[in-house]
Amino acid sequence: NDAVSAEVLPEDRAFEAALRPKSLDELVGQDRVREQLALVLEAAVARGRTPDHVLLSGPPGLGKTTLAMIIAHQLSAPLRLTSGPAIQHAGDLAAILSGIGEGDVLFIDEIHRMSRPAEELLYMAMEDFRVDVVVGKGPGATAIPLEIPPFTVVGATTRAGLLPGPLRDRFGFTAQLDYYAAEDLYDIVRRSARLLDLSIDDDAAREIGSRSRGTPRIANRLLRRVRDYAEVRAGGHVDHGVARAALELYEVDDLGLDRLDRAVLDALCRSFGGGPVGISTLAVAVAEERETVEELAEPFLVRLGFLARTPRGRIATPAAWRHLGLTVPQDVAQ
Ligand code: ADP
Repeated sequence: NDAVSAEVLPEDRAFEAALRPKSLDELVGQDRVREQLALVLEAAVARGRTPDHVLLSGPPGLGKTTLAMIIAHQLSAPLRLTSGPAIQHAGDLAAILSGIGEGDVLFIDEIHRMSRPAEELLYMAMEDFRVDVVVGKGPGATAIPLEIPPFTVVGATTRAGLLPGPLRDRFGFTAQLDYYAAEDLYDIVRRSARLLDLSIDDDAAREIGSRSRGTPRIANRLLRRVRDYAEVRAGGHVDHGVARAALELYEVDDLGLDRLDRAVLDALCRSFGGGPVGISTLAVAVAEERETVEELAEPFLVRLGFLARTPRGRIATPAAWRHLGLTVPQDVAQ
């Protein structure tokens, strides 16, 4: 069940393209980032110069790619897209840089996953708009200077802390995207429904928003699944009951927990008395790989304050017991 995954699923692509805000005005929430960025871009356009390089950090699905597209759009500049994992050698980056035109926006997703030599080449390019490309090896190696017209890098990363300082310092504008408030997700669901020509009641939109884990990508995906349900079983209109029934069918509960999240909590409380229990043991209990539990279930359970990582293992908090409808045991700290 991947209904609440924050990663892009193949089924998301066409919809994401259709639902993506095209300008800063269409973007919901993130008021401060929006205002700051509007200023940076407007000033650059007025001066006829490229703006500072922009670093966007935050968890997946919160709008980093969307913002990069908006930046290019506001600058009326072509956008080139690449990603850290695609740039494993300095030569990969040199090839991209040699194709850059004046004023282009280069979006590098997962920029923290570039190789070290590529990182070094990138920050030289960002600073001086020229790099030395080394051709050959050993005593015969020669450095060929490559001039690059002024351009703007928009880097996206889930973890700004992983970027080496010198590279981070080359970004004149940094924005940290945070999970969205319930009200913003409600607005996003209503906006998407409008674009999809879907009739939906306000309380249904609110319900979908509140189960979306603070993440616009998840809100849009849940909306789509609810739409399928409504079309097949309810004549197309989404009221509160239809939304609830559809989300129940997809096993997304009131707080946005899915089957795996609940299985982990359930094992932790019922089989291990609330812990502490090691992550590997817990993974075996829910018949999953350790990485799956660590990467897909744990972060959200920790964010909700249901699970804590301690040196002795994972423990369930009183809130976790209550969410499962169980009595909090005496020995679990209140
Ligand atoms: P990221 O690059 O951070 O993983 P994306 O920019 O791809 O996230 O956003 C995922 C989807 O969520 C987009 O298709 C877009 O429709 C939607 N979205 C993200 N942020 C917003 C926002 N602020 N307002 C409206 N929709 C948004």
